[in-house]
Amino acid sequence: MTTAELSDQADHASPTEPPNRNDAPNREAILAEVIQVSRLFYDKGLVEGTAGNVSALVANNRVAITPSSMPYHEMEPQDLVCVNLEGEVASGERNPSAETAMHLACYKSFPEVRAVIHSHPLYASMFAVARQPIPAAIEEVTIYIGGNIEVCDYAMTGTPELGQAVVAKLQDRSAALLANHGLICVGKNPQDALHASLVVERTAQIVWGARVLGNSYSVPEKVNHDFGEIYRLIRKEMWN
Ligand SMILES: [Zn+2]
Repeated sequence: MTTAELSDQADHASPTEPPNRNDAPNREAILAEVIQVSRLFYDKGLVEGTAGNVSALVANNRVAITPSSMPYHEMEPQDLVCVNLEGEVASGERNPSAETAMHLACYKSFPEVRAVIHSHPLYASMFAVARQPIPAAIEEVTIYIGGNIEVCDYAMTGTPELGQAVVAKLQDRSAALLANHGLICVGKNPQDALHASLVVERTAQIVWGARVLGNSYSVPEKVNHDFGEIYRLIRKEMWN
């Protein structure tokens, strides 16, 4: 099936009330970007095997998400599954990711969000298991993530409760830790959500190392506040 046919079939799903969004750019370009980012996040070591998932908004009320249990380097745009915001499959031959509900919770709660990545990075997951937030110890964390990365309440993978838990932590952040599980990041496009994931993982490694050396310090509160304001302004004005 071509991506154009995917696009046609996407219109057959039952409609739901769409959030207030501008039209997403070219659908085929977004599908290609989801595939490219999926391969990159595997190559960067953010997941092992077929774990994790990537999605992007391809139209108002349409999300393309990676299928479950498929190796990322075998995945092509036609393997992505298009769902509406209620999780009903609009097009695609495969089963959507088991974490689709968590992705959709982000799109439904935040109209400006256009891409979601869930991964299991090593150092960030250490903080998730320790149930400790990753502090905003590097300025770029606040610029790109909005501040420290907090830990969601534990909820089992694939449940609606997990979606509610991450939404509670993503109000003014691009990233949240899933207790005993991993990381979720949102962004204005897949590349942006991947960048956020890499910033979080890099910071987790730096903080972990700094604590081994003796101590870690957060960026001064005023600096964090000021950069946090910039993050919130950019998210509000430039994501949608
Ligand atoms: Zn996971």
